[in-house]
Amino acid sequence: MRSEPGAPAPEGGIPLAVPEIGGNEWAYVKDCLDTGWVSSVGAWVTRFERDLAGIVGARHAVAIVNGTAAIHLALLAAGVAPGDEVVVPALTFVAPANAVRYLGAWPVFVDVEARHGQLDAERLAGFLREGCTPSASGLRNRATGRIVKALLPVHLLGHPCDLDAIAALAREFGLPVVEDATESLGARYRGRPVGRPGDLACFSFNGNKILTTGGGGMVVTDREDWARRVRHLSTQAKQDPVEFVHDEVGFNHRLTNVQAAIGCAQLERLDAFVEKKRAIAERYARELADVPGLLLPGQAEWAHSTFWLYTIRVDASAFGRDSRALMQSLGEEGIQARPLWQPLHRSPAHRGSAAVGGEVADELQRTSLSLPSSVGLTDAQQERVIRAVRRSAGRPA
Ligand SMILES: *Cc1c(COP(=O)(O)O)cnc(C)c1O
Repeated sequence: MRSEPGAPAPEGGIPLAVPEIGGNEWAYVKDCLDTGWVSSVGAWVTRFERDLAGIVGARHAVAIVNGTAAIHLALLAAGVAPGDEVVVPALTFVAPANAVRYLGAWPVFVDVEARHGQLDAERLAGFLREGCTPSASGLRNRATGRIVKALLPVHLLGHPCDLDAIAALAREFGLPVVEDATESLGARYRGRPVGRPGDLACFSFNGNKILTTGGGGMVVTDREDWARRVRHLSTQAKQDPVEFVHDEVGFNHRLTNVQAAIGCAQLERLDAFVEKKRAIAERYARELADVPGLLLPGQAEWAHSTFWLYTIRVDASAFGRDSRALMQSLGEEGIQARPLWQPLHRSPAHRGSAAVGGEVADELQRTSLSLPSSVGLTDAQQERVIRAVRRSAGRPA
């Protein structure tokens, strides 16, 4: 059984993470169809931006066609230019690194910390202080000769990275922070919503994220000039809408009213979604705690995690088999589990990028496996997953 994360459940199987539709989505989409407001302007786009800004406590939000495009435009607004370097964690989905490359800039992959898999602020400090030298044109990476222009930390798997430590370094070196919050809408860092500015933060509403618009994204910021620039760039940099005057090369990266309508309905239930994800995590934690060789995800002292994907680590010698063998045996029972991403310092797509460490990312990739954690996961389905994991370990089910 093969299926993509984010796709509907295979017959009788248990998918990794699929959308939860069932609120006002139909009604709001019907409004778009009834009124003819289906495209990239409309009341739902405006409301979706306002609602999301309200939830994260940002002054401005700009709806974008997807999370990758949101990061791309946020980096442009932050002033990243061709040939610059941007710090990206070594362990993350590839999108933020790709967005850096769209600009003709380069990622520099800094390792993650071992406990929560988030960008390692100490490694980052070491890199900025010892791996770089101040120069007339900015902070120069001694290894590559490129100028480090921005930090792009990722809040991975629903768990916030250590933002205060990273923001302090950003201030020390005068660098803007573009937060990739695409996996962590609804999470909190020291009580504050993830994505709360900050400089710029980006969200995704892809099909496997905690809430979805089919596909979609958002940039949030408190700075009006940045918000205006992101909006301008996302609408083909149109300066005069009547005479079609464009003052630079822009993009067609706006979200449609139909997608935003779905997003508004989904956003109404965000708190319930987060609660459900946390309840799923609690049950896994309770019922897998005694299985030898499993390291279960926790929360840093600063974190209120959504456990977007419940990702365990498998110590093969203690568990009796490795993460991939566990994935295989779950798959045979129709249960979709997935490893994390290839660490980016190993990605053929990103050859030529610099790296600072990477051993921790390698180790996490070898040992990690995400278990089904859709908002709609039923008690009976979760029971099946738990029993299957325990059986795989040779424990009584
Ligand atoms: C999903 C994701 C993105 C991109 O979002 P899309 O909406 O799929 O373009 C970016 N960064 C990370 C870490 C993601 O998981």
